[in-house]
Amino acid sequence: MGDYILEVENLVKHFPVKGGAGKVVHALDGVSFGIERGRTLGLVGESGCGKSTLARTIIRIYDPSAGKILIDGRDIAKLSQRQLKPVRKKIQMIFQDPFASLNARMTVKEIIAEPLRVHQTGGTARERDELVYEMLTKVGLERAHANRYAHEFSGGQRQRIGIARSLILHPEIIICDEPISALDVSIQAQVVNMLIAFQQELQLSYLFIAHDLSMVRYVSNDVGVMYLGKLVEFSSGGDLYQNPLHPYTQGLIQSAPAANPAAARARKSAPLEGDIPSPINPPPGCRFHTRCRYAGASCKTEEPVMKDLGAGHWAACHLLS
Ligand code: SF4
Repeated sequence: MGDYILEVENLVKHFPVKGGAGKVVHALDGVSFGIERGRTLGLVGESGCGKSTLARTIIRIYDPSAGKILIDGRDIAKLSQRQLKPVRKKIQMIFQDPFASLNARMTVKEIIAEPLRVHQTGGTARERDELVYEMLTKVGLERAHANRYAHEFSGGQRQRIGIARSLILHPEIIICDEPISALDVSIQAQVVNMLIAFQQELQLSYLFIAHDLSMVRYVSNDVGVMYLGKLVEFSSGGDLYQNPLHPYTQGLIQSAPAANPAAARARKSAPLEGDIPSPINPPPGCRFHTRCRYAGASCKTEEPVMKDLGAGHWAACHLLS
């Protein structure tokens, strides 16, 4: 049994459709996984598969419809906002859009110090300022930046400000929701390498959500693949990219941009075709059956369950045993 900082058990999040006569968006439908202390779980899947909803539900921006969210063994799924306050010191989030996630009316110092103020920690005002200056230096910014406003900075610098804010309470796990996708390619590696360095220094755990498979491969110890509100494959420690088992994962990898034309020609299976179905009416049986070239009769009626396939590898597909 691992030392899990985060465990998610059968997490469900449905959103009612406005004027939809009781219809719901099935954003998450029974997602389960765990993240061990000091490790990174990378989560991949197409847009609309539920990755960002999962991030926001874990951090309780959204209330879950059902299921458990265990932080350090304590289920926070049903806690009130007041009860959640001490837990929020342990779990922080880095958002996708560094332009939208920082308050334009606050100085950089106020933004980074806000968690200290909310949690009434960090000592006197002067001591809090010192913590902010220290954090600015750690993320590669300068003390002189503290009194400026977020709009005065580049996208990469704003994401560094967001990272400084997420770290100031010394959390144990950070939910990174596409933290680099709004940044220039030249900046992405700098931000990711900084996150890795902080992980090693502070024994942090990450849930790292991204659609860039190569970046997820670079940062992650474990990788999960989501499709239409469900986890369809999970690989702990192994290399999912060398040995993808679920047809969706295989298609996802084949659809990713190749480094060169020869590598693209060497690919063995077909890229993904068609669009992800509506989460309001997910297909019965295996949700991937409308796009799967291996789909048989049972795939349209029987839902495959996650199976342990050995060597830290799980997948949900009727073809696998
Ligand atoms: Fe394809 Fe059937 Fe496997 Fe689903 S269960 S991935 S439809 S073969």
